Amino acid sequence: MIDKKNFYINGLWVAPKNQKDIQVINPANEKSCAVISLGTKEDIHDAVTAAKEAFKFWGFTSKEERIVHLEKLYELYKKRWNDIAEAITLEMGAPKDFSSKLQTGTGASHIKSFIRYLKEFEFEKALGDHAKNQRILYEPKGVCALITPWNWPMNQVCLKVIPALAAGCTMVLKPSELAPLSAIIIAELIDEAKFPKGVFNLVNGDGATTGDALTSHPDVNMISFTGSTRAGALISENAAKDFKRVSLELGGKGANIIFKDADSEAIERGALRCFRNSGQSCNAPTRMLVEKTMYDEAIERLKKYANEFQVGDPNKEGDHIGPVISEAQFNKIQGLIQKGIDEGAKLVAGGPGKPEGLTDGYYVKPTVFANVNNNMEIARTEIFGPVLSVIPFETEDEAIQIANDTDYGLTNYIQTQDVEKVQRVARKLRSGMVDVNGAGIAVDAPFGGYKHSGIGREAGKEGLIEFLEVKSVGGWN
Ligand code: NAD
Repeated sequence: MIDKKNFYINGLWVAPKNQKDIQVINPANEKSCAVISLGTKEDIHDAVTAAKEAFKFWGFTSKEERIVHLEKLYELYKKRWNDIAEAITLEMGAPKDFSSKLQTGTGASHIKSFIRYLKEFEFEKALGDHAKNQRILYEPKGVCALITPWNWPMNQVCLKVIPALAAGCTMVLKPSELAPLSAIIIAELIDEAKFPKGVFNLVNGDGATTGDALTSHPDVNMISFTGSTRAGALISENAAKDFKRVSLELGGKGANIIFKDADSEAIERGALRCFRNSGQSCNAPTRMLVEKTMYDEAIERLKKYANEFQVGDPNKEGDHIGPVISEAQFNKIQGLIQKGIDEGAKLVAGGPGKPEGLTDGYYVKPTVFANVNNNMEIARTEIFGPVLSVIPFETEDEAIQIANDTDYGLTNYIQTQDVEKVQRVARKLRSGMVDVNGAGIAVDAPFGGYKHSGIGREAGKEGLIEFLEVKSVGGWN
């Protein structure tokens, strides 16, 4: 049993003020794999106080000093690569190859890319040639509360911790209580890289107590949160009371528009992107919109693809998917699959229950529903499991209308060989990202959503700017 009950506060691993332990459950076998503590108001207060104190000097360091620390961190990250990948497999069930290449890999890519943007970023500049005496200063926002979910644990930690460090902010990280182990490794690496005490602090805990204490603490200047739309709204209420800056990365219900001239792999590629990570990605294309003339063929292909799609033990090598995160999540997905059947959608593959032979662990069958109408609950609710809803359309305008008819606006997808159509449709989709013909969104492209999918952008230059305030000084010299 891994014991990770201590918190990292002010450069030291310290015992919680009030001992309240919880087990971390390995979703592949439903057994406890580690024990952590849930932080209370007192622990949060200590961590925020340390961050506030550290900001007095870290906020005024040169970017060169911060680059030295971040480069050291990047080297250490690469050395602990396998430990990070193993922790992610254990805590959230990502199969080992996926965990190493993608889950751990994206964290490394973000560290590398933020270092590059930090090197290029001008923290002070003149307003322009017309106003050289007007100086624009970019300054760190201050003490940040960073709250992350379990589905891409290291990716999300790095999207917040690294730009916050790069900007000169200090911080308290509260990772998901369901998947805290990889985040604890980041704390160990920050300690080893000898960041000054108090710059980075980690307190484990749940949302209702620890998360709430952190987001309502008066000395927190900014909150960067990734998670559910429900929690995002609660956090915004806390922030509004004293005007904390807020950055939110929330849910999605992406549409993947397959026109009849899509490339020959578009259908299967779309299903893979929906099932990948067991469907637990906010940017998953969970609504496949298919042009009517190729609809029947698409359903046949999806049926075959989903029935052959492998689900299994995350400790085995291969490109299968593992379990979903928890019993609660498993039950939620089962309920939504049943709801789809009850609402009259046609079950083409998968369905209720666990895949054959997988009795222990929260495994879900890759599921495809045909004849879905965009008003059904399976087309509106973020299921966060490997469940694809297929919706027919006749015209380009109708496809755009269905794609935009959702509360969310994170990532939409277009599949067509017609470049003019790509650009016309991409402009009309109300989402922060549009992924065309499987090109993917670059690791340093702005990541974030419209509407209920959130506020602000992560990754790359925009992700760094998110942690900066802008100051105008007139009469600089
Ligand atoms: P969640 O909102 O339940 O939990 C996320 C984190 O917030 C956890 O650390 C949790 O402890 C904390 N939290 C929960 N309630 C809180 C509260 N009231 N105050 C403060 N903190 C609180 O979400 P989840 O189930 O862990 O994650 C899945 C959700 O995250 C999905 O909706 C998914 O779409 C979304 N997500 C979005 C992105 C994105 O970038 N847009 C990325 C990953 C996940």
